[in-house]
Amino acid sequence: MNNINVNARHNISTHVLGYPRMGAQRQLKWALEDYWKGQLTQDQLLNEAANIRQSHWQIQLDAGLDFITAGDFALYDHVLNHSYMFGVVPERFASAESGWQWDTYFRMARGRSAQGDDCAACEMTKWFDTNYHYLVPEFTEQQTFSLNADVWLEEIKQAQALTPNVKAVLLGPLTYLWLGKTQNNGDAIDLLPQLLNVYSELLHKVSELGIEWLQLDEPILGLDLPQHWKQGFELAYNQLKSSPLKILLATYFSELDDNLTLACQLPVAGLHIDGINGKHDLPNVLDRLPPYKVLSLGLINGRNIWKADVDAILPVINDFYSTLGDRLWLASSCSLLHVPEDLDQEVNLVPQVKAQFAFAKQKCAEVSALPAQLAAQLQGDKHVLTQNPIKQTTKPLDAIGAELKQQIAQLTSSSFARANTFATRKTIQQQQFNLPLFATTTIGSFPQTKEIRQARLGFKQGSISQQVYETIMSEEIQHAVKEQENIGLDVLVHGEAERNDMVEYFGQQLEGYVFTDFGWVQSYGSRCVKPPIIASDVYRPQAMTVRWSQYAQSLTQKPMKGMLTGPITMLCWSFTREDISLKEQAFQLALALADEVLDLEKAGINMIQVDEPALREGLPLRQRDWQAYLRWAVDAFRLSVARVQDSTQIHTHMCYAEFNDIIEAIAELDADVITIETSRSNMELLQAFEDFKYPNDIGPGVYDIHSPIVPTQQWMAQLLQKAAQAIAPEQLWVNPDCGLKTRAWPETHEALTLMVKAAKQLREQYAHVNA
Ligand code: GLN
Ligand code: ZN
Repeated sequence: MNNINVNARHNISTHVLGYPRMGAQRQLKWALEDYWKGQLTQDQLLNEAANIRQSHWQIQLDAGLDFITAGDFALYDHVLNHSYMFGVVPERFASAESGWQWDTYFRMARGRSAQGDDCAACEMTKWFDTNYHYLVPEFTEQQTFSLNADVWLEEIKQAQALTPNVKAVLLGPLTYLWLGKTQNNGDAIDLLPQLLNVYSELLHKVSELGIEWLQLDEPILGLDLPQHWKQGFELAYNQLKSSPLKILLATYFSELDDNLTLACQLPVAGLHIDGINGKHDLPNVLDRLPPYKVLSLGLINGRNIWKADVDAILPVINDFYSTLGDRLWLASSCSLLHVPEDLDQEVNLVPQVKAQFAFAKQKCAEVSALPAQLAAQLQGDKHVLTQNPIKQTTKPLDAIGAELKQQIAQLTSSSFARANTFATRKTIQQQQFNLPLFATTTIGSFPQTKEIRQARLGFKQGSISQQVYETIMSEEIQHAVKEQENIGLDVLVHGEAERNDMVEYFGQQLEGYVFTDFGWVQSYGSRCVKPPIIASDVYRPQAMTVRWSQYAQSLTQKPMKGMLTGPITMLCWSFTREDISLKEQAFQLALALADEVLDLEKAGINMIQVDEPALREGLPLRQRDWQAYLRWAVDAFRLSVARVQDSTQIHTHMCYAEFNDIIEAIAELDADVITIETSRSNMELLQAFEDFKYPNDIGPGVYDIHSPIVPTQQWMAQLLQKAAQAIAPEQLWVNPDCGLKTRAWPETHEALTLMVKAAKQLREQYAHVNA
């Protein structure tokens, strides 16, 4: 620390890896949707996009960052931008015109152009472990690449008109290939040499613009990579080094670990590492970094909304600075795409709580302030530090934290286990419910009609009284129950009319959650989500769902499923605390839900479904971390349902199709019944359940609720026959793939009626089983 020139406070460069694209008022969303409706011309759309970019760069300039970042923008998705730019346009979208055609671009994204001609869109999937979804590049075996980069280059020029200090950003070639899927299961790495030619050409064009630094994002360096992909990195970056550009190789989302040496030694001018989610690399990086290289440290969290704890960060910076001097850069951990844009808009947050948050704009200021704070600390200038407006002042309030902590510490293995085994419970439950083979049910929600949404909005805005609102909701529940009885379903649901969103609904009733007005984060295309924030200890002040469930049960003799969102889904779809572990937060949620489960049981609800659609997406990026995650995730689920009687049937639901690698954990949940998505994969995923000899009951979805198409009885019966070959008929339930809230009533009525018929058909076929 002694040999530092404290006056050199300005020789640490600062930047962010990328900025959100929507605009603080979601301007891009509105412009895109108007354009798709034909209410905005292409020029108007592009103008709006240019304005949004401009204002985001201005924010970065005003914050005092040393670079503004350009090339991170996308009208729909940045991965799609790369596909389009590299000529990776599947045959079915081919257009006669050359150059950048926005209609073709949007058809790839949405399967539909502004003119309305339809065509299967590109597949969409999650961007690493975030809730952002990208469009999967589709490579053919003979894939060729061609450069079509004018739109992207124009954006760089637009930024250069503001300042000469522009850092351009692109996905790196390895990550781009990794994200794609290849025809006939080919290995995309085979396409690398070809792709590198286009990258070289593009880099040449970037340097002709007078750009000095190009950030190439290679987040796959934080994954478990096959050996030949690691070699691909060496091949690629040795070829790209002939460009006069300085390349900043950017990694993020997880630690590099076994790829750290590789990442440090690639022949590029700089390396960015994620100092939050990759912090375990920090002690090892200086040993491996060649002496010529810039190290960009991402110490401001791009994945969460908390203000940085500057006191904790400065010593880390100081350590690196004493070795690196001006070769040290400071940055956000990753792109700010994953946080909301501007905290200043939140006028309804309690000031004490708001004071702890930083959104994208505030994070730019946080990054930018770090060098001066370091200098001030080195000079012993406490004044600057205490004056610092961005310093974290308060920690989350710890009202009942101590009590919860103790409660969690006292949990024993019996806290996580039902009193008896599934086999014992099944007999008792069968006596109680007396359900037929192939019992029919649905996943929870029924169509969220315009009337329901209007009533909810009116109630929220105060134009509808609580009494009127509750009358409308009870009528909806009556309607849903009557429909289900007419259709002849065996196990009913109340329909979730009162719920806006499966996480928000519970978050609003739990203590510890905070909600923003404008905390939107892009999910895909023009779609945004507004994740609630776990800001302090979570507990349940009073029952949340008992009243409506009890009311629904009173309308029917059939069993009515209580409907809850599980602890892991609550966690995965919220911004979480950083001062206690995710496990601790999951257990707090589980304890709150456990009370709800018991209250439902007491109120005569004997089937309770705890949805966990997010269980799989919570998996860490590195496989070696899976076990630990699955342990506490499974425990949290079990904690929330363990205390019910044998006769109470616990259901769970998950809507995705990859169970192979987590089937053991799924079995360990020990839910009496699990409903899953299977229809799109033609029951293929049941293979995992068959191979594993999954012991409890399963409802494989027999039709896809994502489409309004009504499946035929024959189709569903066939799927069930297929299922019955893999799983014993005594274990099988019959249900759609997921909740029906996005559907309309007519198609729902028709599809469920046919589903019930298909179940009856199977019962006849398997009549001997019960005899
Ligand atoms: N119970 C929820 C519903 O039916 C489940 C939704 C989900 O799995 N995403 O809407
Ligand atoms: Zn689902």
